[in-house]
Amino acid sequence: MKFATKLIHAGIHPDPETGAIMTPIYQTSTYVQKSPGNHKGYEYSRTHNPTRTQLQNNLAAIECGKWALCFSSGMGAIDSIIKLLNPGDEIIASNDLYGGTYRIFTKIFEKFNLKFHFTDLSKTDNLNKLINSNTKMVWIETPTNPMLNISDIEALTAICKKNNIISVVDNTFASPYLQNPLLLGADLVMHSATKYINGHSDVVMGAVIGNDDSLHEKLAFIQNSCGAVPGPQDCFLVLRGLKTLHVRMERHCFNGKRIAEFLKTHPKVDKVYYPGFETHNNHEIAKKQMKDFGGMVSFTLKNDSVENAHRFLSATKLFSLAESLGGVESLCGHPATMTHASIPREERIKSGLLDSLIRLSSGIEDCDDLISDINYALNNS
Ligand SMILES: *Cc1c(COP(=O)(O)O)cnc(C)c1O
Repeated sequence: MKFATKLIHAGIHPDPETGAIMTPIYQTSTYVQKSPGNHKGYEYSRTHNPTRTQLQNNLAAIECGKWALCFSSGMGAIDSIIKLLNPGDEIIASNDLYGGTYRIFTKIFEKFNLKFHFTDLSKTDNLNKLINSNTKMVWIETPTNPMLNISDIEALTAICKKNNIISVVDNTFASPYLQNPLLLGADLVMHSATKYINGHSDVVMGAVIGNDDSLHEKLAFIQNSCGAVPGPQDCFLVLRGLKTLHVRMERHCFNGKRIAEFLKTHPKVDKVYYPGFETHNNHEIAKKQMKDFGGMVSFTLKNDSVENAHRFLSATKLFSLAESLGGVESLCGHPATMTHASIPREERIKSGLLDSLIRLSSGIEDCDDLISDINYALNNS
């Protein structure tokens, strides 16, 4: 099956009882057993729920994996993945990470004696320099948030394999439509399904997909023990959102490209970060591992200040100022004071995240309207 067909059909069956074409919302916490242990694979909804099972089967298919697990949020998924490790283990991660990922690593897990090293993984050689006998996991985010750096998944995961290290790719920004890290050698793919996968800004959810049965068993055990599971209503909404992922992504990519090109020509704009530009330092890798370049665009202003960025963000009318991304409506954000406020200023300036950096999540509105909105806000800031 091709991607578009999988989105709509893979792992999804009409309800055996009624023929309902849409997966029912099994709003139940428990399941009746004929005699102790005599059940149809469902005992309690923290462990399994049929609405969740169909969503997991669909996600596994579209990420080209054997299995998927859905979590109550992207952070819930990350939390469970890190719990695969033991005190003393070391993790190497991209230095340009989602703010919440950086926070859980440094503020929660360092306390449990896990050691995190942050480096620029868009340069593959940097990985080799940090590997030692305690390195047990490599955490790759590509494209990164918000700098849209690109890391070479195939090259990095090959190094992990050679050193017996678990490789994880946070694929939230790309979505399974643009890239499938498991096909490039990753052990685990993680998503904030809150973003493109659901796509309608009405659910918070996470997912992990993989091929390795022993990792599946361990993660399912951690999930069932710790409890970060999504409810059946949310699983239904994500199943519904997923059916249009390919159509939405085509428009997100189209709008993202035109917006990036427009920004590049505007006199008030300094740098534009977009992996589709030939001048992007890893454009060739993006072209190789991604189907298109996505709907995310970041840029800085020539007059680099927090106040100036805030003026832009208050002047847009179609781009709503909000955290999050990947929904049908366009959003704008200011990483320095919003998503990345927990990263020390020197740290973020080092990775290019300047005071005026603005991140746009292009929605699927008409592109001409979006560009006029940006133009108006730039001229009024
Ligand atoms: C949003 C996000 C997360 C966290 O997911 P939640 O669903 O908000 O918990 C992790 N990684 C990236 C790249 C994200 O954008």
